[in-house]
Amino acid sequence: MGANMSTVSISCCENYDLKEVAIATKRSLDLLGNVGSLIKPGMKVLLKVNLLSASLGPERAVNTHPSVIRALVDILQSEYGCEVYIGDSCGSLRTGSTYQAFRVTQIDKIAEETGAKIVNFDKDETLDIINERSAFVKSFKIAKTIKTVDVIISVPKLKTHGLTRYTGAIKNMFGAIPANGKKNVHLLAPKAKLMAKALVDVFEMVQPHITIMDGVIGMEGNGPNAGDPRKVGVIIASYDCVALDAVASSIIGFNPMMVPIIKYAYERGLGTADLNAINVVGEKIDAVAVPDFKKPSSSAQDFASKYIPDFLLAKMFDNSCSSVSTIYEQNCTRCYECIRNCPAKAMSAPNGKVIVDEDACIGCFCCDEVCNYKAIVMKRSLLGRTFLRMAEFLGVERTKE
Ligand code: SF4
Ligand code: SF4
Repeated sequence: MGANMSTVSISCCENYDLKEVAIATKRSLDLLGNVGSLIKPGMKVLLKVNLLSASLGPERAVNTHPSVIRALVDILQSEYGCEVYIGDSCGSLRTGSTYQAFRVTQIDKIAEETGAKIVNFDKDETLDIINERSAFVKSFKIAKTIKTVDVIISVPKLKTHGLTRYTGAIKNMFGAIPANGKKNVHLLAPKAKLMAKALVDVFEMVQPHITIMDGVIGMEGNGPNAGDPRKVGVIIASYDCVALDAVASSIIGFNPMMVPIIKYAYERGLGTADLNAINVVGEKIDAVAVPDFKKPSSSAQDFASKYIPDFLLAKMFDNSCSSVSTIYEQNCTRCYECIRNCPAKAMSAPNGKVIVDEDACIGCFCCDEVCNYKAIVMKRSLLGRTFLRMAEFLGVERTKE
């Protein structure tokens, strides 16, 4: 591992031209230092990529961009002499969706051209993982390859997330759980705050050795699937996922300690989220910051948390202010991907039109994550909407504290 576990490197990368990405990716690794003492010739290295959508192409900024994956495969093979594996379980529960995600991201082509091996976690053997320290998820199954390789490199995408506000290094490891297993975690932790704790439970047991984030074009607004691509122009790397998420979330205008998943991981001692204690090398955070990066509507909670005690806030947002899914009919193509993906079985289409049973909906955003037509609207209660309007009015979403 690196000499300084809380070093985070930031390298500028203007676009996805492979040459440019290769230079930035290599620089981000070199800046970390000691990579050669971790990765040795002949080792099996797994790139745990971030595949949410099985049908949206790289231009939509939903999945890790193929240029970043190609650059990493080339570096690992030519400079470190490694055997490279590329794996994930995609966000959709439809049979064959992970294979389709490898196709749509052109990872299948990269594998063909370089000899890297694709691992579809949904088809991999599984291993049982027990976490005694967990808040919620005491046991779960992961794809076996994760524990049989020598080194795991996580390659997340920089995006907002309606449920967790921000998604990056920590959340990317949730994809270690194949297909239906993810559904069970959502059912165990049906509210935003509980889900953040559950994601940290999983992350604790499947931590990567290095994380390299694709922050060249991120996703702003209603991520992780229905937001808009937005240039950030960076590749960020670290041995410490929590530190990486603290830096990346800060670049796009969040206070890291207001992002529950980062806060909980930090409190559990899984990394450093204190920006003053993180050694940022390469570019400075302020030099690459995009403070007006649009936040998801859940940022209203950031606003409220300044004025309302934690215990009351948790109650309000877990009850009155949590979201339920509604359908924006004009955009709906009736593909029914959302129905297949709903862990709470709250969606149906008795007469062709998708309807949501609001009492059964647990506000998990799983339907929103897989709808490619921006036809899901996560509706907040009146109280939640009022906080959001106040937050927007006061410009709190764009303020770093
Ligand atoms: S809401 Fe989206 S995912 Fe669901 S059926 Fe309509 S288009 Fe498909
Ligand atoms: S309707 Fe959507 S948000 Fe509600 S439980 Fe189902 S997948 Fe989750």
